[in-house]
Amino acid sequence: KKKHFVAQKVKLFRASDPLLSVLMWGVNHSINELSHIQIPVMLMPDDFKANSKIKVDNHLFNKENMPSHFKFKEYCPLVFRNLRERFSIDDQEYQNSITRSAPIISDAQGRSGARFHTSYDKRYVIKIITSEDVAEMHNILKKYHQYIVECHGNTLLPQFLGMYRLTVDGDETYMIVTRNVFSHRLAVYKKYDLKGSTVSREASDKEKQPRPPEEGAPAPTKSRMSQKLQTIRIATRFYCAIKHTKELPTYKDNDFINDGQKIYIDEENKKMFLEKLKNDVEFLSQLKLMDYSLLVGIHDVERGEQEQPEEESEDNDAGEEEGAESDGGATGTPPDSPSNTLDSNKPLGPGEFDPTIDVYAIRSHDNAPKREVYFMGVIDILTPYDAKKKAAHAAKTVKHGSGAEISTVNPEQYSKRFYDFITTIMS
Ligand code: AMP
Ligand code: AMP
Repeated sequence: KKKHFVAQKVKLFRASDPLLSVLMWGVNHSINELSHIQIPVMLMPDDFKANSKIKVDNHLFNKENMPSHFKFKEYCPLVFRNLRERFSIDDQEYQNSITRSAPIISDAQGRSGARFHTSYDKRYVIKIITSEDVAEMHNILKKYHQYIVECHGNTLLPQFLGMYRLTVDGDETYMIVTRNVFSHRLAVYKKYDLKGSTVSREASDKEKQPRPPEEGAPAPTKSRMSQKLQTIRIATRFYCAIKHTKELPTYKDNDFINDGQKIYIDEENKKMFLEKLKNDVEFLSQLKLMDYSLLVGIHDVERGEQEQPEEESEDNDAGEEEGAESDGGATGTPPDSPSNTLDSNKPLGPGEFDPTIDVYAIRSHDNAPKREVYFMGVIDILTPYDAKKKAAHAAKTVKHGSGAEISTVNPEQYSKRFYDFITTIMS
């Protein structure tokens, strides 16, 4: 207990945005609190309605970075802890990822043009969501949890890891944390958002434009950058990695077709992938959810090799790994014991990934024209048919009068069209 208190005291939660500082503070607090709560044998129905709230007033500590008044609410803390466990995410690691350094802003925009962030180590995506999304999460959480139990976490669906409400200056902001579909270390050079509908499914010229860094995003001045280039290589690399993701446009179905894009994966991987996808979309269809996308990212191994510096990146938990290696036999684990596998010991080579971290990654097959790694996961699943229907109905009524027919597809049609399209893109 004492140790825990000391560790908490030195944390600073320094972020450019006070909201991020509050998120860091809140996740830190939440995980510390949870560490004192025993893991129950099983979740109870009330756990799916529960929340924990904390209000912070007039604190003096760290006031350069934190607002002096804020509130933090966590939804269904025991359920999300259980989900993290099922997705093999250790709470301590989760806490570290969110709190060791401030999350990084990305300029890719969501449905509502909302910002999204990744954790500093790029393992997790933090999205601002609406209160309707929070309500919808509550609607589906029990079934989602059940599904995750049944498929043993083996799914292409978003891995929901935590949902929070942050109140600063009376403004409420809802956030949800999911696992990053993309790699925390292999850069993606092309990104598609696929829905299986070819109607207005191409990136507009505007969307294809590389976007300038958003206001408030960390954008060092030229002189400061060149200074850093000369002095700190690690920082330089880090900057390049951020810049790379920043400028990536999101292409859509028609772009995928017109580009002649192919996903070159072997039969076994294809079978496993499509089996998961089939179950996932069936589940979404049962929940009457639609409008979700398959997010596809492509890593080019050769290109990655040229852009990537020889050394491993700085966020690879090098502390433990290098320690274990340089200590040689001095560490507790014998070199050939089962726990001493490739992933934990050997630095990863070009195009290699740790499948326990980059869970959505599939490598190209041996006969592919280029060595690539594909990252594919389903995102944006929180649109219920009712909301969609109402919106379409309102639009149609305005345009064609109240008697107009609604041609919007239903969740079952959507899931089928989606699945069929994805099968066709797997060459
Ligand atoms: P609040 O936490 O009160 O800001 O709620 C945000 C949204 O989530 C609102 O639309 C609530 O109706 C919904 N919500 C919050 N808690 C629950 C719950 N336990 N069960 C169902 N919906 C909830
Ligand atoms: P959304 O708000 O879900 O439509 O997402 C908007 C954009 O955010 C997507 O096009 C992706 O670029 C990115 N994104 C959302 N969720 C994830 C995720 N889990 N992993 C990686 N990128 C994501």
